[in-house]
Amino acid sequence: MQFDREAFLRETDRILHAEYETDLRSATNKELYNALSRAVMGLCWEDWSKERRTQKKRCGYFSAEFLMGRAIFSNLLNLGLLEDAREALSSVQRDLNDFEEVEDAALGNGGLGRLAACYLESAASMNIPLDGYGIRYRYGLFRQTFVDGYQHEEGDDWTKWGDPWSVRVERDAVIVSFADQKVRAVPYDMPIFGYRNGVVNTLRLWASEPVQEFDFAAFNEMHGEHTAQENFAATKITDVLYPNDNTMVGKILRLRQQYFMVSASLQDIMRKQKEKGADLRELDRAYCFQLNDTHPVIAIPELLRLLQAEGLTFEEAFGVCSRCFNFTNHTILAEALEKWDALALSDILPNVFREIEKCQQRLQAEGQGDKFYIIRDNVVHMANLAIYVSARVNGVAEIHTNILKRETFRDWYERTPEKFVNITNGITPRRWMLLNNPKMVAQIDSRIGTAWHTDLKRLQEMKGHIEDMLPVFGAIKRENKQKLADYIRVHEGVELSPDFIFDVQVKRLHEYKRQLLNAFSILYFYYAIKDGEITDFPPTAFIFGAKAAPGYYNAKGIIKYINEIAKLVNADEQVSKFMKVVFVQNYNVSYAEKIVCAADVSEQISLAGMEASGTSNMKFMLNGTVTLGTLDGANVEICEEAGRENNYIFGATVEEVAAIKQFYCPREIAEGNHKLKRVLETLVNGTFSDDKGMLRHIYDSLLNDYNPDRFLVLYDFADYVRVKEQLLRDYGTQDFDRKCLVNMASVGKFSADRSVTDYNELIWKLNG
Ligand SMILES: *Cc1c(COP(=O)(O)O)cnc(C)c1O
Repeated sequence: MQFDREAFLRETDRILHAEYETDLRSATNKELYNALSRAVMGLCWEDWSKERRTQKKRCGYFSAEFLMGRAIFSNLLNLGLLEDAREALSSVQRDLNDFEEVEDAALGNGGLGRLAACYLESAASMNIPLDGYGIRYRYGLFRQTFVDGYQHEEGDDWTKWGDPWSVRVERDAVIVSFADQKVRAVPYDMPIFGYRNGVVNTLRLWASEPVQEFDFAAFNEMHGEHTAQENFAATKITDVLYPNDNTMVGKILRLRQQYFMVSASLQDIMRKQKEKGADLRELDRAYCFQLNDTHPVIAIPELLRLLQAEGLTFEEAFGVCSRCFNFTNHTILAEALEKWDALALSDILPNVFREIEKCQQRLQAEGQGDKFYIIRDNVVHMANLAIYVSARVNGVAEIHTNILKRETFRDWYERTPEKFVNITNGITPRRWMLLNNPKMVAQIDSRIGTAWHTDLKRLQEMKGHIEDMLPVFGAIKRENKQKLADYIRVHEGVELSPDFIFDVQVKRLHEYKRQLLNAFSILYFYYAIKDGEITDFPPTAFIFGAKAAPGYYNAKGIIKYINEIAKLVNADEQVSKFMKVVFVQNYNVSYAEKIVCAADVSEQISLAGMEASGTSNMKFMLNGTVTLGTLDGANVEICEEAGRENNYIFGATVEEVAAIKQFYCPREIAEGNHKLKRVLETLVNGTFSDDKGMLRHIYDSLLNDYNPDRFLVLYDFADYVRVKEQLLRDYGTQDFDRKCLVNMASVGKFSADRSVTDYNELIWKLNG
């Protein structure tokens, strides 16, 4: 994009005068941020409306979550304006970095929502017409602080500084009806900029509002007179993101959110098709939809309903749906697979429920017995509905798709094997390298050019430059570590030295991800140092970041436990020379950007078979980090790409896990390993304060529950500690840095550019 600094500053200044009665010099950071962002939007609207006017087939990515992070730097980068804007501001004595105070758009929980964000960016960069459809939550994922080591949650007012990157599109508002409620859905569109290619796709997020004024007659018919109470209920639907990751919520308000977003999106799309005079029987010529997990699956019966309301027969409508919808599964955890009570669903959405019943009848009429069902014992199984109707079903890493085929959806796979495909997840190299690690990028560019920015496989060309990269790699990594250490000193009050190994585990807090295993290993090393058994421990900073779902008791207990360990270790004069522990508060996308380029070790230690893919493993790999992990999710493919010998793999394999579980007795393992036992006892022996009984609860879940230690923490402990100690001892050698660089050079497969290209070739077939 041609950039005219003077014109840009004039426009920013004009907006500052018009909107805030101020100017470039005296505007607050917040005012300047809004004006500058709006000035950038002004440069792009033509490209944006051009994209919307094209007649190409488009894919709607339906997702209850989009974990976008901060927009301004990423948008400027993709528009090629990052340095221009920085210089323009500094010419008037202002600093672009001041916008680091802008809150993240955290309209998602973790990996699933971040994946959606990466895919939108990558699709725009690959010129694939993919648009996101979701919910404009008033409050995103809670802001986390620690009080006395316990997680404390606060509301996330993500538009506190305004929302200059969204446009409210009043003309596209629609009404969404529930049995007991009608609400108005108003879309807010965000531009999704491709990387320096002029493509602008759209993320359309719907906000709920009271229907009154807009369609007073319809509302009166529905409710009699309106009350403040009912208006409150209407806005409430999109008030807040449910903070659960990998668990089913089971709340009716959540179902209302899901229906609200898909009904609004489909009504909007159908209206546009009708305005064009298109035949709705051929909707699949203009659109297809990717369902991001089961959360938006209620779109299927809703589209059936809408099409029949337009005169199609059920079979015609079913045909359209079976060509339009595709379903991505993200987990095999039973507690995450969505099931809705049939009575509750039929109460609030009777017409939609009727369509689900018709699908069930159609399925049963195929006469394959009761192996296949959508509704059973008055429970609606959303994944089964999705698989039955969708054209394609995909898992998100090879190992995960194989588990879906062999176990989770085995019968369905045998019925229609051609539906099942694998598309391994990916991350965008723009946000996760170009933006957060510019010095490393400059070094790579000077050796192999810039083609890898949009063709990550070409980072392989670095394999011929590893030897001469070694010194600069070490120097830049150290700088990144120093920056992170500075940030952590200010925000967490813990002093870290960049001479320490940075060993990092950041991701949602979940028992299957096994932060507890990491914590136990730290205490194990702690006691070994105290006892003088280890006198030469390689100095290491163990860094954690994770939010726990507010209702997930054990997850919160694990946060408290690690914070207590941190307090113990960091205050110990003898041990803190060798190790520090810090749990950073409010881990989010912006924190992740700072962390992944400063890590030496990427902890990916879930029980094999439990992590569908993982994507933070890819972010670390891209920035030149070795993985300490199990053969789970995309770790398996990381080893295939970068070589197992360049990573640190431990633990039971997925094949072993099932056999182990049959006769598993964690108590026996604890009794047979007195060092592990000593660590375990800290959960109950008063080493740490536990006034709420949280640590004891963890202890019981490992040793005393009916199904103790579900995630084999004790089983994998010995192997984990062995491999981890080896890794820490390898650190500091050139060999270790070589491994880091081989990982970086081998990361190509894990670009989201490759993922969306796979989706397009195997499923969407856009641009065809
Ligand atoms: C990438 C990312 C995740 C996903 O992490 P996993 O380790 O793959 O579970 C979660 N949260 C944030 C903020 C992220 O950036």
